[in-house]
Amino acid sequence: MLFIYPYPQGVLFTLIRVILLLSIVFIFIKLHSDHESSGKISDRLFVSDRKDTTTSQKSSVHLGINEEDQFMDSIEKILDMIVASNPKLNVAVYFKNNLEGSLSLREFHGEENYFYQELPPDNPIVEKVINDKKIILVTPDKDEDAIRSFFSDFTSLPASTSLFVSPINYDDLNIGILIAQVDQYRDFDEKDEKTIGLASQVIGGEFIHFRELSELRSDNLFYAQLHAFQNRLDISHSKEELLTSILRFCERNFIFDKLTISMVTERKDEAVIKAVTGFTMDFGEGDTFQLKGTIHGTVIRDDVPIKYDDMVMDSTIEGRFISGDIEEFRFLSFLGVPIHNKHGAIGCLALESFGSKKYTDSDCRVLGVIADQFGTLIDWWQDYGAVRKSARYDGLTNLLNRRSCLERFEDEISRAGRYQDNLVLMILDLDKFKRINDTYGHLYGDFVLAETASRLKNSVRNIDIVARYGGEEFAIILINATKKGTITTAKRTVESIANSKFEKDDITVNMTISAGIAEYPSDGRTVHQLIAIADEAMYDVKRKGGNDVGIPGRTNA
Ligand code: GH3
Ligand code: MG
Ligand code: MG
Repeated sequence: MLFIYPYPQGVLFTLIRVILLLSIVFIFIKLHSDHESSGKISDRLFVSDRKDTTTSQKSSVHLGINEEDQFMDSIEKILDMIVASNPKLNVAVYFKNNLEGSLSLREFHGEENYFYQELPPDNPIVEKVINDKKIILVTPDKDEDAIRSFFSDFTSLPASTSLFVSPINYDDLNIGILIAQVDQYRDFDEKDEKTIGLASQVIGGEFIHFRELSELRSDNLFYAQLHAFQNRLDISHSKEELLTSILRFCERNFIFDKLTISMVTERKDEAVIKAVTGFTMDFGEGDTFQLKGTIHGTVIRDDVPIKYDDMVMDSTIEGRFISGDIEEFRFLSFLGVPIHNKHGAIGCLALESFGSKKYTDSDCRVLGVIADQFGTLIDWWQDYGAVRKSARYDGLTNLLNRRSCLERFEDEISRAGRYQDNLVLMILDLDKFKRINDTYGHLYGDFVLAETASRLKNSVRNIDIVARYGGEEFAIILINATKKGTITTAKRTVESIANSKFEKDDITVNMTISAGIAEYPSDGRTVHQLIAIADEAMYDVKRKGGNDVGIPGRTNA
């Protein structure tokens, strides 16, 4: 489990285990538990805890457990094949424990094994084979010490013991050696050198194959994890919560000294930092930077992932967020990927580290997936927000629609009930509005409605709720208010319509509105009771010519 990409850390480890246990095929679970019980973690190939590795990108050369077991099986077969071709041979495979360290014996085929379990990295023969990248023959007449350096019990071996030592390479990188030993030099067959050299190449090729499989599988796991992460995100979360989730996810899956999420502003030529984790002494949340001439900006402008191994050494870079900040803060590694919405690059997700060569191409790919996911979520969130808004608001006036108004009213009544507050409902209806449509057309009527809405909104407090209750009917819920205290506001609201003309396209009209109010709890305790009372008061006003506020219990306001 410790090899599974991205890298072993507590939460990730647990998560993957859970995913495995729940959903991945049986064999996978079995291998997983085999591994747990074997306790051979340190014996694994290229153990590389990425938290401990320093700067070498290549230190991530390792296989997943699944692939490593298969790889070792295929090595066994290759060694079988060598021994079958010449039964006098004892063959052994060593793999490096890490790229600089010692080599460990991992597989042996033969009569009796006198090989050292570990070979130091400075063994001269090993060094030579690795450097020359080709097979060599070591015979006692030439170099007895060299032969001795491979055997723990040299005395038990015949004096003429000889060896072929062949490098096992992964691409250009050495990962181990294949050794073939015979007791007598003459026991080597003429074709042995070829067979052994070829076998070491096949082993290297197998490693590449399983490495690719590993990557593929670890990516699949990563996707599974990402999927789980996405499922945890609730679209009703705010953007801030979304950002926080992304930050936490990256913290668990990447190494960085600073993570920055920035988004293009409305100006388009600059971006604002939406979230930062890690180092914030240079640029932090809310700071803006130019897209031009900055690395973070270039990721967005050019819509490309950018990776630097050592920014200080690269004289072509002007700055990360601002010209000169590379020299000042000395971040060396950079990995930034664009965040897209459906219209294009809108932001940058970037990791930076004070160490050099911290990010691999694979990291770039993975971070790209997160950024894509993030972009999709933003899109989703915005679309959802738009749909939700259009379901709640009236498109013409931007006021709450009738249904949402009733819901809010219900909520406010129960809240007022809990806190023993009063509240006032005001129902308003434009007087003789139909003639506007009839005289000037529907469009002009729309304008009058929109203008009325904005005047109503401006005549009450921000906390009060203004809604379009019907065609030319409006409702206002005055929070924590009494009838007595509301009369002035109600009159001002009615006057806001009558006191200034409605003007558009050289057409000027005078409008009036009639209002009726009802108070919770004195006039009624339910939404329906209060609406009926306010409506009644409003019609009372209309019957008397309109342009006034009707108050229940009074014949005139
Ligand atoms: P009263 O003084 O009795 O309130 O008379 P009124 O003409 O204002 O009331 P009535 O109910 O007779 O007419 C309301 C009109 O409002 C009828 C309808 O066509 C119009 N209306 C409703 N919704 C809209 C709208 O969205 N846009 C426009 N332009 N007109 C609308
Ligand atoms: Mg009307
Ligand atoms: Mg009406």
